[in-house]
Amino acid sequence: MSVEAGTLFVVAAPSGAGKSTLVNALLEREPAISLSVSHTTRPPRTGELYGRHYYFVERAEFEREIAEGVFLEHAEVHGNLYGTSRTSVQELLSQGRDVLLEIDWQGAEQIRRSKPDCVSVFILPPSRAELERRLRGRGSDSAEVIERRLRNSRGEMAHAHEFDYILVNDVFEDALADLQAIVRAVRLRSALQWQRHESLITELLAL
Ligand code: 5GP
Repeated sequence: MSVEAGTLFVVAAPSGAGKSTLVNALLEREPAISLSVSHTTRPPRTGELYGRHYYFVERAEFEREIAEGVFLEHAEVHGNLYGTSRTSVQELLSQGRDVLLEIDWQGAEQIRRSKPDCVSVFILPPSRAELERRLRGRGSDSAEVIERRLRNSRGEMAHAHEFDYILVNDVFEDALADLQAIVRAVRLRSALQWQRHESLITELLAL
């Protein structure tokens, strides 16, 4: 059986939609998916670890890496640079692992261009009031950062229609079930299944 390439999932949302919590819960249920760890010039929040949440780097280093072609995609979001390492994603995909990118709409647009087979999902909050409540309740960002993220959220959500799937994170368990359903449906696509079950199909089709 030939080795199949993994699927690249792209998940975006405005800050406060609950994206990271949903993605972390998905990864617990679907351990075969690897989460790509991004590079960023944003300072770490309390409790965030280098190499686990992000690779935290200085702006000059990030800009040098852009010039060297290190990133599969990169964008400026809320005043900081963020990017996805090309080699780590390629390596995982070529090993047959599914990879998930938690990135903004600009990064998603770049990925769609270079990897048209990617599967993209946009997560919406159930209301503007709830988005604001979740963002303020996080407690790890300054008032200024929160205001900036709230202002930017409309711009992010205006791109939701460009994604393959849109889900609304109202009741957490329902949104998680929706996200998992997307992953499972993608894995059952006939082109993948045909390859995966080659010997079964050979047997079933034998005269
Ligand atoms: P945060 O600072 O809250 O961790 O992330 C802020 C925004 O940057 C989120 O929308 C997040 O999805 C996005 N982001 C995180 N990593 C990347 C990345 O590698 N590339 C792009 N384009 N956006 C990213």
